[in-house]
Amino acid sequence: MRVLITGGAGFIGSALANQLIQDGRHVRVLDDLSVGERAYLHPNIHFTRGDVSDKPKLWGLLNKVDCVYHLAARVSVSESILYPREYNATNVGGTVALMEAMRDAGVQRVVLGSSAAIYGEQAQSPVTENLPPHPTSPYGVSKLSAEHYVSSIGQLWGIETVILRVFNTYGPGQALPPTHPPVIPQFIQQALGGGSVMVYGDGAQIRDFVYIEDVVRGLVEAGTARNVNQRIFNIGSGEGSSINRLVKAIETVTGRDLHPLSVSTESGGVSRLIADISLAKELLNYQPQVSLTQGLRFLLERDPRFVV
Ligand code: NAD
Repeated sequence: MRVLITGGAGFIGSALANQLIQDGRHVRVLDDLSVGERAYLHPNIHFTRGDVSDKPKLWGLLNKVDCVYHLAARVSVSESILYPREYNATNVGGTVALMEAMRDAGVQRVVLGSSAAIYGEQAQSPVTENLPPHPTSPYGVSKLSAEHYVSSIGQLWGIETVILRVFNTYGPGQALPPTHPPVIPQFIQQALGGGSVMVYGDGAQIRDFVYIEDVVRGLVEAGTARNVNQRIFNIGSGEGSSINRLVKAIETVTGRDLHPLSVSTESGGVSRLIADISLAKELLNYQPQVSLTQGLRFLLERDPRFVV
């Protein structure tokens, strides 16, 4: 089996690429390296630097490919509020260009890395895939729009589509941009540096933190599972944790005091977002294996940036 991973030099993409190489697949990666790093990738991976909207480049890379994992995207909620046009161009325009190129190349299947951000505030918890989406940021809107393009174009042109709504993923190698750092590596860095962490809102907001290896297991299955065409799956841990509980868990695994500072003027985002993973369990044989405390310990052991 031959796969192309767009955004494959990034946090999730490189973990997937390295796993698939270990499983004996032929892996090609397309990434513009705006965030990702080539050094993350196993030497047997065929790497090409380029933009996901570059159709001539895609035609070459898609030759004899069975499945595309589409992960290339701009990924920050806060940055998307400042630059919605760029988010639309990459996350929506890039997806449409890729779908066109896949039609031309006759690719059989695409797995889209979508996001829990499409849900927004929901009365129901945990959230199931059939709830009406209410994205609250341009990032969420762009991912929802990408979902619609993938499903509709896939149906029209006979490309199998599988959409994974990935929840808050953490693990080694996650980028830590100073302007919009993801919460877990940010808190760990601050804990180890002896500083205070800023908790937006009251810290009672609940998220579903899922370890990178579990997300990779879901992606691998989605590439080959049968009878999943046009399906959408939540990929999370299935467990909720408040930000306050996360602070305590990081204090426990690092042995440091985080000195949390409450920033009540800033919104902490939606109040609660937990994945119902029943459908993925049933059809993708998905079973998350890493608890939050265990995942935080793995992160400290395996990410050279975090030496306790
Ligand atoms: P990431 O930023 O590490 O990976 C994205 C990769 O895409 C980067 O390597 C970047 O260089 C590349 N890229 C960006 N624009 C590109 C372009 N125009 N052309 C080619 N490559 C481009 O982020 P990630 O966390 O690995 O996210 C991967 C995917 O998973 C994204 O689609 C994201 O929306 C989705 N996702 C991530 C999370 C999470 O918690 N990390 C949660 C839900 C969904």
